[in-house]
Order: sequence, then structure tokens, then C-alpha cells
Amino acid sequence: MTDPEPPPFLAPSTIHFCPLCGASLAVEAVPPDHREQKVCSRCRFVFYLNPKVVAATIPELDGAVLLTRRLINPGRGLWTFPGGFVDFGETVTDAAVRETFEETGLKVDLTGLLNVYTYPAAPVIIVYTAHVTGGTLTTCDENDALEWVAPARIPWDTLAFQSTREALRDWVAARGEMPGG
Ligand SMILES: [Zn+2]
Repeated sequence: MTDPEPPPFLAPSTIHFCPLCGASLAVEAVPPDHREQKVCSRCRFVFYLNPKVVAATIPELDGAVLLTRRLINPGRGLWTFPGGFVDFGETVTDAAVRETFEETGLKVDLTGLLNVYTYPAAPVIIVYTAHVTGGTLTTCDENDALEWVAPARIPWDTLAFQSTREALRDWVAARGEMPGG
């Protein structure tokens, strides 16, 4: 089975039409900083293309972290922790709890902010530590394995994203242990 062609990448250069009225966008210098933005030729809507926000959790149990193996791209077959895009109208913390439940079947309480991970032209990833309060470990459409992993057994060579690696290193370091990998 081959993966379908990926969709076009969302970037200022690939956006051509106003999402509000459908007219063409043109590049203009916009006040107050006069940086170039895509502006609607008809209704004057300015299409600021900002990074999306991902909310994620590192669920903890008896010193282990819950990792999920991704069934979808990007990062298919690689390991990460639960997380996903914050919906419009939702808070980051609510999204972290919701995504964790959707991807693992577990209900969690957030126990602290681990860190924020940010890279050029990528989503902003906000990672919380979390404590399991209920539910039953259940895979979903986006993952095919869920495992509680002790710090010494984290699969550093098969993690999905740079943010996965950096967040897990921060988590291990915060526990006072030396990160591997
Ligand atoms: Zn418009």
C-alpha cells in the first residue's frame, strides 16, 4: 500500500484567494511594521499566516511515560506522546486533556507545564505533564500501540519529531536522571 500524494504545503506563497470573499490576494506592506502580507484586493482582509498550536501531554505512571506509535504520517511507525491541534474556541489545556483521551482512552489531570517547543514554519508545541485519573488504555485511528516506558527504555532512535526528542529529554532531566540518546 502506498501513501497518497501529500497535500500542498500551507505557506504565504501557496495562498491565493481571500477566505472571506473569494477575491484574489496580493502582497502589500501592512502597517504598523510594514512587513509584507497577503491582502485581499476586494475586502482588504489581511491573511496573517501564524503557526498552529499543538497541545500535548506526557502521562506519567510509576515513573514511566506513556508513548504512542503513530499509524499516520508525518512520523508513521515512530513513537511520540499524546497530542494534537488545539481547536478553534478551545483552550490549550482543554485540548491537551481531550487529545490524550482520544488517542489513549485515558482521562488525565494536567500536573504542570513541561515546556514550549517552537521551530521555524512549524506548529508551536505546548507539552504538559499529566496524571492518569481513569479510563482504559485504547488505541485509535492514529496509533497502533501504546506503551508505558521507563526513562531507561525510551526509544531515542525511533521518536517521531524533534519536539518529541527534546520534550522527553527535558522530562528525563527534570526527574533528575541523565537523558540518553
Ligand atoms: Zn476578501
